[in-house]
Amino acid sequence: MLAIYVHIPFCKQKCSYCDFNSYPGLDAVHGAYIDALVSEISAEAARFNRASISTIYIGGGTPTLLAPEQIGRVLGAIKDNFTVVSDAEISIEANPETVTRENLVALRDAGINRLSLGFQSLDDDLLELLGRKHTAVQAVEAFRAARGAGFENIGIDLIFGIPGQSLANWALTLEQAIALDPEHLSCYGLTIEPGTALERAIDASVVASPDEDLQADMLLYTMDSLYESGYEHYEISNYAKPGFACKHNLTYWNGGDYLGFGAGAHSKAGRARYSNIAEPAKYIEGAGSDTRIAESVQLSVVDEMSEALFLGLRKMDGVNLDEFDARFGQTIDNVFGEAIEDLVGIGLLVKNANLRLTPRGILLGNEVFSRFV
Ligand code: SF4
Repeated sequence: MLAIYVHIPFCKQKCSYCDFNSYPGLDAVHGAYIDALVSEISAEAARFNRASISTIYIGGGTPTLLAPEQIGRVLGAIKDNFTVVSDAEISIEANPETVTRENLVALRDAGINRLSLGFQSLDDDLLELLGRKHTAVQAVEAFRAARGAGFENIGIDLIFGIPGQSLANWALTLEQAIALDPEHLSCYGLTIEPGTALERAIDASVVASPDEDLQADMLLYTMDSLYESGYEHYEISNYAKPGFACKHNLTYWNGGDYLGFGAGAHSKAGRARYSNIAEPAKYIEGAGSDTRIAESVQLSVVDEMSEALFLGLRKMDGVNLDEFDARFGQTIDNVFGEAIEDLVGIGLLVKNANLRLTPRGILLGNEVFSRFV
């Protein structure tokens, strides 16, 4: 079984914190981009012999800037060229200002059964600081429109630790999001990425730097609050009602294989990792052939073991020691014993049948992962 990711690199405008592969002002190439995706999908299908597909994730960018018919064409190409299982999870990311009940119904009709809504905040001042195009009211209306359109699996994405955001402000946003009763919540601590407008504003002292201690308090608050509201914390930043964990993202964290289509998309097949050219115009030129590939590497066994650890430890269940042995033919302690002993010793990891992060390890995840790279 494979997972498929489709990247749509178009946005209305660039958000202040964003370093994703996304571009405003490319409306004129939407049609050519869809053609390119369709040719990439059929070329790759020949290589993967109509493999079975368990999940499809259309992300961006802002996929809902495209017409539902264009999304439908991409899904049709996947279904024509691969074997999509009957209960496949098929997700799309959506920004609140780009959805209406009508286009959500059309997306449902095209086969999308999971929606990931990018709220980010429910405070209009913070939304403006983040450079988002929607208001809090539009976000709530988008959620209600999605329910009205028949979506029974809706995720809300939120960001905490925004400059100027208090714990009380975050608590209110979280409470309002929970009140909508989504099946899934992703809550990310804001990181200031190099080269973004937000970084420049902080460097120029126009915006305050994020407060790391406050961000840690917000994460602890989030974990408690969502636990009390019946959400399972299944990955560092992700929470779901029972049965609604995102199967697509679990494929990444469990080390499964996936195909990425579109500009800058990454693929994994066994130990091979490769990625497409990020720039949309160049991707469009090369989509039907291998000239679209920007980078290709074959991991060593040790690289693959490292990857299994730092991806697996993102899950709250962590890494099962027996499964690691069975996959790699040697124990986790043979390879990483010293780092594990250190991290258990300072209270960041706990080891029994599984190796997993402690609550303190969740707060200091990057420190843990860096020991396995
Ligand atoms: S909508 Fe998403 S991908 Fe587009 S600029 Fe904003 S954060 Fe980046």
